[in-house]
Amino acid sequence: MNLVTGTEINYYFVCKHKLWLFTHGINMEHNSDYVDIGNALHEKSFTREDKEILIDGRIKIDFVRNQLEIHETKKSKAMEEATKYQILYYIYYLKMKGVDGVTGVIHYMDNHSKEEITLREQNEEKIKQIIEEINKIKEMDKPPQKVKSKVCTKCSYYELCFC
Ligand code: SF4
Repeated sequence: MNLVTGTEINYYFVCKHKLWLFTHGINMEHNSDYVDIGNALHEKSFTREDKEILIDGRIKIDFVRNQLEIHETKKSKAMEEATKYQILYYIYYLKMKGVDGVTGVIHYMDNHSKEEITLREQNEEKIKQIIEEINKIKEMDKPPQKVKSKVCTKCSYYELCFC
């Protein structure tokens, strides 16, 4: 199985057109105000020594507490499913590397709420399916159909897609 990145898992849920653009080296993230706001909130929320752990260039964990608890900060719950599966994938990825017993916590900055995440058997099956589908999308010659949705106005690819 060709493992994927956490960002690819996230984009799979957000927009498959975006996933294809991103995995073909078309990267416009720096143009997005929304991303800048999200980064600024993240920077302010936790101490510097807590920050980002990159593993194999594939998964980037915001910070770890209590050894086996991985934490992710997000601006809001707007992309809740994408965020949840991104964290589930981190836990799955670590399990594949022999690190068992990892759990996750997502911090939503706008309402200061948090959600605890545990990897269950049915999540693992779905993650395997998602990885296969992501690899199929990456191999496509052309991007999947664009679908205009409420996420588009906050997407860094908006101008490329709709202007
Ligand atoms: S603008 Fe919309 S359709 Fe285009 S990549 Fe972004 S989310 Fe997908």
